[in-house]
Amino acid sequence: MSDCLFCKMVSGEIQPDTVYENDEVLAFRDINAQAPTHVLVIPKRHIATINDLNDDDAGLVGKLYLAAKQVAKQDGIADNGFRTVMNCNAGAGQTVFHIHLHVLGGRNMQWPPG
Ligand code: 5GP
Ligand code: ZN
Repeated sequence: MSDCLFCKMVSGEIQPDTVYENDEVLAFRDINAQAPTHVLVIPKRHIATINDLNDDDAGLVGKLYLAAKQVAKQDGIADNGFRTVMNCNAGAGQTVFHIHLHVLGGRNMQWPPG
């Protein structure tokens, strides 16, 4: 998707602050961090929303979580705890329509979220 911000990060047209990468997944720091650690984990393949996931994407979604686990370990937040969030569509707060798993930690989290 040539007009997708996160696809531009995958292609290298825009260079994010990458913290983890493998063949299928890229993880980089959020430009507007909401916690001491705020990383976005994305699939390298464009998928707009959770609603667009297919059965064939099940393994890829698992890999987003495995990358989140790795990021949390790297940033030293795994043991104390961290939160993962994936917003779906505007009503949930999604603003970039290429799925991304937020990884938030380094401070205490409140529940319920706003
Ligand atoms: P959403 O609101 O779609 O769940 O999350 C989108 C996230 O992307 C937001 O937390 C926002 O700060 C982040 N974001 C938007 N533009 C950029 C950018 O250019 N670079 C980075 N690193 N993050 C961005
Ligand atoms: Zn994209």
